[in-house]
This record gives sequence, C-alpha cells and structure tokens, in this order.
Amino acid sequence: MKGALPIEIVGGGLAGLSLGIALRRAGIDVTVFEAGDYPRHRVCGEFIAGLDEATMASLGLTPYLADARAHTSLTWFANNRAAGSSQLPEPAWGISRYALDQRLAEGFVQAGGTLLVNKRMDLDDSRPGRVVAAGRRRTRSTWIGLKAHIAHLDTRSDLELHLVPGAYVGLSGVEGGHCNVCGLFRRRAEEKQEEGRIPLEHYLRAYGFDQLSERVARAQWIKSSATAVAGFSFASPAQSPSELAIGDAYAMIPPFTGNGMAMAFQSAAVTIKPLISWSKGELPWLEVVRRVRHDLRQRFGARLFFARTLHRFLHVSVFQACFTRANRHRLLPFQTLYRALH
Ligand SMILES: Cc1cc2nc3c(=O)[nH]c(=O)nc-3n(C[C@H](O)[C@H](O)[C@H](O)COP(=O)(O)OP(=O)(O)OC[C@H]3O[C@@H](n4cnc5c(N)ncnc54)[C@H](O)[C@@H]3O)c2cc1C
Repeated sequence: MKGALPIEIVGGGLAGLSLGIALRRAGIDVTVFEAGDYPRHRVCGEFIAGLDEATMASLGLTPYLADARAHTSLTWFANNRAAGSSQLPEPAWGISRYALDQRLAEGFVQAGGTLLVNKRMDLDDSRPGRVVAAGRRRTRSTWIGLKAHIAHLDTRSDLELHLVPGAYVGLSGVEGGHCNVCGLFRRRAEEKQEEGRIPLEHYLRAYGFDQLSERVARAQWIKSSATAVAGFSFASPAQSPSELAIGDAYAMIPPFTGNGMAMAFQSAAVTIKPLISWSKGELPWLEVVRRVRHDLRQRFGARLFFARTLHRFLHVSVFQACFTRANRHRLLPFQTLYRALH
C-alpha cells in the first residue's frame, strides 16, 4: 500500500506471524523479529480448543491446519483412575508447534514479510508501529512445563487429561501419528537443582502418574522433541501506556483449557483493523492501543478470570476428589464449563 507506515512485530510465534500474514495481505510492510529459529519444538499441549471460524477466516488459517487431527472426545483421569469422558462441543485441532510455527513463518515470508530470526529485541522499547507478540513474560514461578512426543501410545480417547495433586498432564494426537505428552508440575525442591536435565518420564513417576507411566513405558519417546520451560505465571503482565501486546504477551490462560493458541490467534485478529488504520494515518497510536485493549478485555476478561480460578484448585487433591464424584453422578456441567473457558 503506497505511503502506508510500516509495522514491526516483536515475536514470531502464533500471534506475531498470523498478524504479520494478515497485514501483508492488506499490503503493509511488516518486519517480524524472532529471538529463536524454525522449526523447533515448544512446550505446549498442542491441541487448539475454541478457535472460531471468524478468526480462522480473517487470518486465513485453514491451509496451515490442513493435516491437523480433529479431536472430539476427552477422558479425564484423577489419581490414576478414569474419572469420566465427554464429547467436546466442537472439535479441537491437534497439531505440533514444530509444524505449525514453521508453516506460518513460511507463509509470512511468501506473503512478502521480512522475518529476522535469532534477533532478540528489547521489550521495554515500545514505540508507535511496534506490536509486542513475544509470548509469556519471564518471571519467578512455581511451575515447570515439560513436553515430548511419543510413538505407539495406546490412548483411551482423542484427548486425555490426567490429574494428581501438584500436577496435570495432557495427551493429544498430532499430525503424523505421534502423541504429544505435556505436563505442568508445581516445582519441588528436589527437582529444582537438576531442572531442565530431568526427562518427562521422571516427572510422571515422581509425581505419582503411575498408570500413565506404565503405559508410556511400553511406547517410544521421540527424544529430539523433549522440551521444558519454567519462569512463567498466569497473572496479567504490566504494560506501559503505549505498548500494544497480543497473545501470551497480553495474558496467558492456564494450559488445561487448550485455549492459549486460539487466544493468540483471536488477539491477532482483533488487532488487524486498528493497525491498518494507523498505518494509513487515520488513527493515532494511543487510540489503537486503547481500542485493542478494550476489545481484548471484552473478549477475554471473563474467560481468563474463570480459567485462573479453576486452575488454582485443579491440582488440589480435595478438589480432584469432588470433581470425580460430581462427574460420576453426572453433576458436572461439562458443556457449560467448556463454554465459559473458551
Ligand atoms: C505447559 C504449557 C502447555 C500449553 N498447552 C497448550 C495447549 O494444549 N493448547 C493451547 O492452545 N495452548 C497451550 N499453551 C499455551 C500456548 O503455548 C500459548 O498460549 C501460545 O504459544 C501463545 O502464542 P504467542 O504467539 O503469544 O507466544 P509464543 O508462541 O510463545 O511466541 C512468542 C515468540 O516470541 C519470541 N520472543 C520472545 N522474546 C522475544 C524478544 N525479546 N525478541 C524477539 N522475539 C522474542 C519467542 O522466541 C517466541 O517465538 C500451553 C502453554 C504451556 C506453558
């Protein structure tokens, strides 16, 4: 677009790349700065729940998810016992971040975007025309997340969620027939020394996922896919008045919802129109920031509150027992819970 102001995006994850592609389609010059490289494995449960058709269409996501698995069934386990099964109100996509991020990066470059990899930017340097899509902020935290792919695992349904006191683990099939195993563990002193070097199998055994440990022992871990992450929290990060943040940089929803990736895409979609107006000189930057924050609060406020509240109890044994009992007596309003969390 002639005379349009260029846009910079810090962070080439789902939010940054999908926004970059949409802005390139509108003819705007876009540069994405990415601290890492592609393809790479990332800690993620790798199922996308609650991604609406309007967002898919406005970002043109369909080709990127062409071979994703469509998951419709979910089984929960609490303390190693099956606690219930449900059908999801809508299918969730199962796809590895290794494939998805790489495809979006290629799509962005094909659309004419400039992608600078291994380029870590100063996140405090917010300025007009710069979008922060740099993911979760580093902070002190009690959590560690680990993930690895596994082959030949016999699963009970499309998605599995395993709860024990102090941790939960999700299983999701991804493209190519592998299963992603991803867990969130409340860190304990004995693991802190060795953190990062301890494999997921150890955590499963140490935290009491006995039934799952036995099953994965018969399958085959894909060692190159193992990754770990620590130093994140679910509180909303502080933002300077002129900072335009999307995706996890705006807010991180607890992973049990499988909704973080959908939120990354949804926040990118919300940002397209105001950014195009700014680029054409029709809207001042601070008004762009105000509008986007307002829309994100409207869209995500209740969802985040509800998910964070539930997350506080999810790994507590008393809650897990009540949850299991309620489900056995068909008192758990799964469909209502799902709607509130997505
Ligand atoms: C344990 C765990 C399990 C999860 N499971 C799921 C799940 O099953 N389903 C789901 O939907 N969501 C899940 N999530 C959440 C999901 O991964 C995120 O919500 C999603 O990745 C957010 O996308 P994003 O683009 O905002 O950030 P990211 O995907 O994190 O991308 C941010 C990018 O910015 C780059 N970057 C960071 N700092 C800089 C810098 N200073 N300069 C330049 N580049 C920088 C990073 O390298 C990265 O590539 C999970 C999260 C965790 C921790």
